Amino acid sequence: MLGLMMDRPLLISQLIAFGARYQGETEIVTRTIEGPIHRYTIAEAHERSMRLANALERLGIKLGDRVATLAWNTYRHFELYFGISGLGAVCHTLNPRLFAGQLDYIINHAADRLIFSDTSFAPILENLTDKLGKVEAIVFLCDRENMPQTTLPNVLCYEELLAGEDPSFDWPDFDERTASSLCYTSGTTGEPKGALYSHRSTMLHTFAVCAAESFGLSSSEVFLPVVPMFHANAWGIPYGCAMTGTKLVMPGARMEGDMIFELLDKEDVTFAAGVPTVWLMLLDEMKKQGRKPHALKSMLVGGSAVPRAMIADFEGKFGIDVFHAWGMTEMSPIGTNGRLMRTMQNQPEEKRWDAKAKQGRAIFAVEMKIVDEKGERLPEDGVVFGELLVRGPWIASGYYNNKKASEAAFDKEGWFRTGDVATIDTDGIMQIVDRSKDVIKSGGEWISSIDLENAAMGHPQVAQAAVIGIAHPKWDERPLLIVVPEGGKQPGKEDIVEFLKDKIAKWWLPDDVQFVDELPLTATGKVSKLDLRKKFEDYKLPTA
Ligand code: AMP
Repeated sequence: MLGLMMDRPLLISQLIAFGARYQGETEIVTRTIEGPIHRYTIAEAHERSMRLANALERLGIKLGDRVATLAWNTYRHFELYFGISGLGAVCHTLNPRLFAGQLDYIINHAADRLIFSDTSFAPILENLTDKLGKVEAIVFLCDRENMPQTTLPNVLCYEELLAGEDPSFDWPDFDERTASSLCYTSGTTGEPKGALYSHRSTMLHTFAVCAAESFGLSSSEVFLPVVPMFHANAWGIPYGCAMTGTKLVMPGARMEGDMIFELLDKEDVTFAAGVPTVWLMLLDEMKKQGRKPHALKSMLVGGSAVPRAMIADFEGKFGIDVFHAWGMTEMSPIGTNGRLMRTMQNQPEEKRWDAKAKQGRAIFAVEMKIVDEKGERLPEDGVVFGELLVRGPWIASGYYNNKKASEAAFDKEGWFRTGDVATIDTDGIMQIVDRSKDVIKSGGEWISSIDLENAAMGHPQVAQAAVIGIAHPKWDERPLLIVVPEGGKQPGKEDIVEFLKDKIAKWWLPDDVQFVDELPLTATGKVSKLDLRKKFEDYKLPTA
């Protein structure tokens, strides 16, 4: 027997309409691409997203059409999230940090009809002029005065487009399984692959991330997502802020430590989210100023593992609660949250920081399992590690128009292969050991590059550390530790290895340490192991 309840579809337009009706005065603040701070309310954002929906309709955009964005975190990008998806079109976020060849592939693979672009990205698009296949127009996200000089054909001005439209729009109802947005993985191996979210999956993800046990968004928080809106929908935060009336502060194109500090401080930000490399810059700035941004209480870190030393600095020196979220583009993206359980909260700080270095418990509705090479389930004892697979209502069931990648991505029970290697303990707490392609295979055993990096980052003269496997005639692979020294310091190799001796197993000790000025980053701001492996392609270990 079926229940007797209304079958109202869950649609993204409801988020902004709700935010505007019940938290309409909540501010959205942006450091604009042009420079000045812009501020307005959710109610105004709603009105402008309705103008946008009218404009899109006039331009002939229909249900299911792909409309791309090439933009930083700004109020206009926020409007695009709701205007495009609310109409039933697919909001396709392009990552401006990708190579021209990858952008060309993605724009054509998605068959984007329009691209809404920040003015600063005009040169990227000019480079692709002959390749913009089905793109009918480029809309620059600015007013007439700030329109870029460009050789691109069919260029429109966003503010003029909105100005000519009606400020009300009846958001249409349609099947909640309709595609809402499209985000390609950064494609470090092979071509980028498209995760195609639906209204239903996005709405369920939004409910889940807003919950107190996850991010805990609410109208008493002020949130600054440094994580870009082109990286897995900024982890769902723009949707969550609309649902809960959380004041949203957008950093635009400026991610430097001092610029982020200033914005956090001036806008009374309580909660921020980003990848560890960004927080490292903020930490430096906080150390320089000898204080934290005055209202900042919590920091959500994901995208790669947060070194324990960073958690200890933020919490021990500045009293900021740092916690992990783990997930993937294919997971909308949140899968776990590393907030401590009540029983852990009163533990001594060293124990708390150990616990916080783990990726945490699954958020409700995400299921996880670890398996061996044959796909058999492994025990969840916190020790045994294996490939991590997941399933849940906001996890991809295939890649957009990519049969081959879709076939390889799931096991026979339909669970998604994350490509991560992890342990899960008896409390269900998951810890990422490594990406399966980054783990170092030494003499038939595995060494976790993340653990080794974590230990090395505890050294007072090490600012950043990355570990890669280097071919070894006897052991197959051995770890090479690559270090960016703390400003002005010159740590010795032996000193670092000595420091590691009581922190990791003896056979995990790196065979060599190399020093570099900086680590290469991927398009989503993570340390690029692929580029490091290329850089050290001809390097020979002294032990080989
Ligand atoms: P992306 O799809 O670009 O978001 O990348 C997803 C991958 O980033 C995951 O499969 C993990 O390897 C890594 N990742 C994301 N969050 C974390 C985290 N909190 N700790 C460690 N690795 C993470």
